Amino acid sequence: MSNILLGKYEAVIGLEIHVQLSTKSKLFCGDSTSFGAEPNTHISPITLAHPGTLPKLNKKAVEYAVKLGLACGCEIERFNYFARKNYFYPDLPKGWQTTQHTTPICVGGTITVKTEIGTREIQMHHIHMEEDAGKSTHDIYEDSTCVDLNRAGTPLVEIVSEPDMHTADEAWQYVNEIRKIVRWIGISDGNMEEGSLRCDANVSIRLKGDTELGTRCEVKNLNSTRNIKKAIEFEIERMVKMTEKGEKILQQTRSFNADNDTTFAIRDKEEANDYRYFPEPDLAPLHLSEQYVQSLKKELPALPKDLQQKYQDEFSLSQYDAEQLCAEKEIADYFEKVLPHSKHYKAISNWITGPLKHFTNEHKITFSDLSLTPQQLAETIALIEDGKLNFSIASSQVLPELLKDKNASAITIATTRNLLQTSNSNELEKWIDAAITKMPDKVNEYNKGKKGLIGLFVGEVKKLSKGKADLQKVTEILQEKLAQQANNR
Ligand code: ADP
Ligand code: MG
Repeated sequence: MSNILLGKYEAVIGLEIHVQLSTKSKLFCGDSTSFGAEPNTHISPITLAHPGTLPKLNKKAVEYAVKLGLACGCEIERFNYFARKNYFYPDLPKGWQTTQHTTPICVGGTITVKTEIGTREIQMHHIHMEEDAGKSTHDIYEDSTCVDLNRAGTPLVEIVSEPDMHTADEAWQYVNEIRKIVRWIGISDGNMEEGSLRCDANVSIRLKGDTELGTRCEVKNLNSTRNIKKAIEFEIERMVKMTEKGEKILQQTRSFNADNDTTFAIRDKEEANDYRYFPEPDLAPLHLSEQYVQSLKKELPALPKDLQQKYQDEFSLSQYDAEQLCAEKEIADYFEKVLPHSKHYKAISNWITGPLKHFTNEHKITFSDLSLTPQQLAETIALIEDGKLNFSIASSQVLPELLKDKNASAITIATTRNLLQTSNSNELEKWIDAAITKMPDKVNEYNKGKKGLIGLFVGEVKKLSKGKADLQKVTEILQEKLAQQANNR
């Protein structure tokens, strides 16, 4: 698609994101919510909707939903009720879904996204609580469908944005940010592969400058951030092409085919679904007191964007470093744990975002599983800052030893393995003389005024000493020696 054509139109995107809350039990009964159990094993009579069973609201789920709203700057609805959304589906045993209808627990709010073209606050519409349905699998048997009701009744929040995004990239960032927040505040694992976070993308286009919304299509059940991006890109292009050909866009529900990154229609949207909502008579309305909401606010951890700002302001870290440290809660927590032991903020950040991040990625662990203690790291950094140990030796030779033993110390490892930097002049001079003798031409050039060559000699000494030479000292001695040589000529 040519950019000129895309430049003529503006895409409008609104997302509905379902997030499974990580409560131990379901929204209205004590059945386990754990993922991956044998099909149909977490199904008490309540989940199975046997006649006469009654729901009981899970307090933790309410707490999680309120926390999410607070983290996103939403208004918290103090008066809540649940409603029955009536429809028939094989994996919905009750014949209705219990959901919030006119009183979503959180209203408004924003999510900050950063794209190549800058930072934007994406407006949210609301967040409501509801229960998940069971899971139908159509591809096990050719002529029948398997229904697993373990998931039925799992607590969800549905996060509905305003139609306020305009590129696939923005939508992608929005989902990433929501995933980060729910993980950060500990209300969901945000795991898209396991279906803990699922997204429906509503897409429309309009001529640039128009204010009315165009006819939208809704792509259902996108289960990875990549697919969200691809589906939206495809939809925008499809709609632009159709409009250019003079074809009318129909309001449709569509599905994404990840094999070729296209979408296809599954149904034309019925004019208005009539779910015959009515207040759930078996659940009392829920009033949230001011005190309750305030107490949850106090429990919230510092949020990533606030921490990021703090790291930039208080520790003079770059925006990039601060972002890296706040990429995951576990990383920020680790950084915070090192702070009481060291004031070398930039060095701590470099270790975390460099060798330690590399190690955790490689071993597929999080920073909370990292065996390196904050003290061990702080001590290693101190040795480097004091000029006793070189960073690359520390990260390549000392760190692996430290990671094997919580009680090991950098100084002991570096001493026993003879890795400490030396500022012993006799030793240094051996390497310095060797470097000078090796490059007589460069020495000449240096003495004729090309002082920048000092780095070359220093580098050579570093190589010869295998990183053990104290380079500060080396530079001083080198400068003296080279000056002497010039004078002796
Ligand atoms: P429904 O529940 O029927 O899907 P809603 O009106 O609640 O419909 O909208 C659902 C989502 O679709 C919201 O995120 C909203 O921002 C988005 N949306 C609504 N109209 C449009 C449109 N014309 N273009 C893009 N997104 C839209
Ligand atoms: Mg919808």
